[in-house]
Amino acid sequence: MKEKNNNEVLRVENLKKYFPVGKSLFASIFSGKEEYVRAVDDVSFSVKEGEILGFVGESGCGKTTMGRTILRLVEPTSGKIYYKGTEVISLSKKRLKSLRRRMQMIFQDPYGSLNPRRTVAETLRQTIKIHKLVNSKAEEETLIKKTLEEVELKPVGEFWDKYPGFLSGGQLQRVSAGRVLILQPKFIVADEPVSMLDVSVRVGVLDLLLRMRNKFGISFIYITHDLATARYVCDRIAIMYLGKIVEIAQTEDIINKPLHPYTQALISAVPVPDPTVKIHDLPIKGYLSLTSDLVSSSCRFYPRCPYATKKCHEEEPPLVQGERDHYVACINYRKSKSVY
Ligand code: SF4
Repeated sequence: MKEKNNNEVLRVENLKKYFPVGKSLFASIFSGKEEYVRAVDDVSFSVKEGEILGFVGESGCGKTTMGRTILRLVEPTSGKIYYKGTEVISLSKKRLKSLRRRMQMIFQDPYGSLNPRRTVAETLRQTIKIHKLVNSKAEEETLIKKTLEEVELKPVGEFWDKYPGFLSGGQLQRVSAGRVLILQPKFIVADEPVSMLDVSVRVGVLDLLLRMRNKFGISFIYITHDLATARYVCDRIAIMYLGKIVEIAQTEDIINKPLHPYTQALISAVPVPDPTVKIHDLPIKGYLSLTSDLVSSSCRFYPRCPYATKKCHEEEPPLVQGERDHYVACINYRKSKSVY
């Protein structure tokens, strides 16, 4: 997993983002110990040119914090982030601003991420002005028209002067995608881009992401709690649990040959519309817990894991190669694999 690849757009090494826990401030004064939640804890991976890497996990597992930290919308606690070989964390604000054109984000909430008092054309015009993308009014109009066509808001004239309040969720997410695409990015973090949309329009927005990848070679991190949409768009999937990657592999290997008990539980929870299909039922106990002492010295999945042994409570399993190009953080993955 550490090998260098010239095709690499993004490389993340040992990324950590810890948040101090406010309520334990009093206790920490007396104990001398600082308490924090490890939202992202020693995460390493890379993304190739034109690749869509999915991050899947429950709410609170750290995937959104990780996406925001990579774009430095949140400052990391430690670690390294390389965009095409350039180290991002140490960049000055000025250099970061110019890099932001290439590294963009599509937010979960299309209703809240657009200014309700700007029309579709004004929204795109604003981005063009901030980044000084054109030299004349005519060029500006042409670029807006071309962008609306790229995100399939056609006929363009029908959407040009529309305010967000008159658009559907799917159309709003297309405007958000257009606002990003106009900057010709090379890398996008798409944070739950379809989770707030009606099921009927989700595939259309996912197809738009695939088209952006296929036509412009854009690399994506696709963040979701929904394995079905991740399977639809992702080349590889990383499963996150309590701030850690617990499994990462090609999409079909994750879906068909999951090695980690948590991945197996996620897959067994996906409804299948065919009653003849055998479901591997793997019940897990309890809920995701953010208690900091729990995560310090044991497997984080230990309290919920049906295969847990004493050893799982004594050491934190590293991410190791379980199969070819398939990495897992579980000391008992052979056992769980044979049962599943
Ligand atoms: S290391 Fe142990 S507790 Fe953790 S996932 Fe594997 S079997 Fe379960």
